[in-house]
Amino acid sequence: MPRRLGQHFLTSDTVLEQLAQAACGKHTQRVIEVGPGRGALTRHLLPYTGELIAIEIDERLVGNLKRKFAGEEKLKVHQGDVLATDLTRWGPAVVAGNLPYYITSPIIERFLSLDANFPLAVFLMQWEVAQRLTAKSGTKDFGYLTVATRLVCEVELICKVPPGAFDPPPKVDSGAVRLVRKPGRIEQLPQLLKFVGRCFAQKRKTLRNNLLPFYGHAADALPEAGLRAEQLQLEQFHDLFARLSYTRES
Ligand code: SAM
Repeated sequence: MPRRLGQHFLTSDTVLEQLAQAACGKHTQRVIEVGPGRGALTRHLLPYTGELIAIEIDERLVGNLKRKFAGEEKLKVHQGDVLATDLTRWGPAVVAGNLPYYITSPIIERFLSLDANFPLAVFLMQWEVAQRLTAKSGTKDFGYLTVATRLVCEVELICKVPPGAFDPPPKVDSGAVRLVRKPGRIEQLPQLLKFVGRCFAQKRKTLRNNLLPFYGHAADALPEAGLRAEQLQLEQFHDLFARLSYTRES
């Protein structure tokens, strides 16, 4: 079994049903499922959606899924790497998945880069990442992924899931998280996220040291220059970005 593809299959019906309902509510038009594997979550999602696009990289599993769900007209199994797939090609959708943990962050970042046509994601991920997404400013878990995610989404922790709920069990606990996209378009989102990345480039360093190479004197002159990025509140990133961009242009 290719463990390198993060193949830990969920066996708890309680957790599977919780994930499906958190993603779909009573009913949703279309769901994109990331990494359907043997179809455990797929089976729980199907009653709640009009259409389910399941993206699986492993050819062998794709073959099994097509056999297992033959005649299920709502399901389209797409073989490919989710990170190389244009998720907008099927139209507006909710995104859900028991994620392959080796690419949790890139999948979250991919979801963040989408727009209001993708209002919601429900992901099962390693507990450590779930904690980072929900971390408070000033704590060690508050980092780039926290800020990037929470600038774009409200984050709700659904439940903690022990290794015993999977076959084979992973080494770590997992956490189910619901990401609800905030209303309104964020101006210059890619640039803002790049800026947040620069603020956290070296977590132990001050903003002055992290931003000096990009903004020179303007970074040095910030009242916040002596702070570390993890000490800022969420809104301050937006504010700092706007101030530094303004300084640069003027
Ligand atoms: N959803 C199933 C479940 O809950 O039992 C399987 C989840 S398993 C943690 C992750 C799944 O993602 C595996 O089936 C794996 O083959 C698939 N996968 C891994 N990397 C992928 C990628 N880059 N694109 C799409 N699927 C991927």
